[in-house]
Amino acid sequence: MQSSHVFHRQLLQDMPVAVSGKGITLTDSQGKTYLDASGGAAVSCLGHGHPDVIAAMHAQLDQLAYAHTSFFTTAVAEELADTLIDTAPQGMSNVYFVSGGSEAVEAALKMARQYFVEIGQPQREHFIARRQSYHGNTLGALAVGGNAWRREQFKPLLIEVEHVSPCYEYRDKRADETAEQYGQRLVAELEAAIERLGGDKVIAFVAETVGGATAGVLTPVPGYFKGVRELCDRHGILLILDEVMCGMGRTGTLHACEQEGVVPDLLTIAKGLGGGYQPIGAVLAQNRIVETFRKGSGLFQHGHTYLGHAVACAAALAVQRVIQRDGLLAQVRERGAQLQALFQDAFGEHPHVGDVRGRGLFWGVELVADRASKQWFDPELKLHARLKRAAMAEGLMVYPAGGSVDGRCGDHILLAPPFISTPDELAQIVHRLRTAIDKTLAGVPKLATA
Ligand code: PLP
Repeated sequence: MQSSHVFHRQLLQDMPVAVSGKGITLTDSQGKTYLDASGGAAVSCLGHGHPDVIAAMHAQLDQLAYAHTSFFTTAVAEELADTLIDTAPQGMSNVYFVSGGSEAVEAALKMARQYFVEIGQPQREHFIARRQSYHGNTLGALAVGGNAWRREQFKPLLIEVEHVSPCYEYRDKRADETAEQYGQRLVAELEAAIERLGGDKVIAFVAETVGGATAGVLTPVPGYFKGVRELCDRHGILLILDEVMCGMGRTGTLHACEQEGVVPDLLTIAKGLGGGYQPIGAVLAQNRIVETFRKGSGLFQHGHTYLGHAVACAAALAVQRVIQRDGLLAQVRERGAQLQALFQDAFGEHPHVGDVRGRGLFWGVELVADRASKQWFDPELKLHARLKRAAMAEGLMVYPAGGSVDGRCGDHILLAPPFISTPDELAQIVHRLRTAIDKTLAGVPKLATA
């Protein structure tokens, strides 16, 4: 059943074989079922087997699967663009389709670079991003990403990137400062980095609005992104927000930046855009950037074979229609509050759960060896990976993050259940998670701390 030639599975030979999915449940070839509490990797926002999305894809396939964009556009791509722009942050009136998150980030980086070349500021060549961030695995995205472990062996990376601190309230806010003051301190750190590089040498600041895969969901403190936006404006630097993971409704608003009261210059989306039914991503761009291309060289110098793929667009359009028709953004907020209460009951007093943080249906759970000191477990234990295995044994999918990250380590898991999860399913998820955590910790020597 399992080929010896699949390279991406080489280290995980004992993987179960997924054969079907319905709602929030996946079933493997042995008939075992798993609650998809992470939506894969924060992808499956409508769960599995959604009839409306499948019908839309079938209808599109029957008509036309693919027409290359250098010859044709398609009605479905145009309609999806209109739908995304109708609900986009202010001033974002342009969409560039790609096939996934890394491609979206690459496209955004190139858009920003080309923009400054076209307006006569080619000397801007630095990006600033944050440590403990993840923006994808292609070389440009890896360069802006702030996870040293992922970057190290691929150095030198292709573009110059300076990294500043992430917004990590649980660990980095001092006891003598408010959340707002902590946010201002981070903005001051960014300002110092800009001044060091030269305000007229920086292209863009790149950040996930709500941090995802690397540190188990990092929510911004109040005022942080407003401060970042003002700073970028003062220096003429673009703000690129990466909402590949946290966007498309995951946090309870369509775009996470809506909750921060900021509008970026470029916004990357993917994952929940296609809901896992098709690979699709996009960059939403401010009009003035695209106008610069139109009036200048005439085009953004980019392109991929599958951009605007008709079936992918049909899937994404159907996902958007279901979210709107079924009022799923409000449901995400409501279920998010229920999930938070369930976490409080299950982990409020748990000696090894240091922090549970999130928004909507996007949550991170941080494990600690000692709650009072917030000391991490020894990274060699690879607790996050053990926990993933234990959760799978319980019939639960959670997304692990951990190991040493820029000299900081920790074990986190990320939960991103489908928007259609019922209260009972959420209760089951938290129950199984608690069981998996306790079983995992029971197998770990108590004093094995970092
Ligand atoms: N950006 C963020 C914030 C992500 O979380 C991810 C993937 O996890 C990516 C970019 C890369 O997306 P993809 O894996 O679709 O290339």
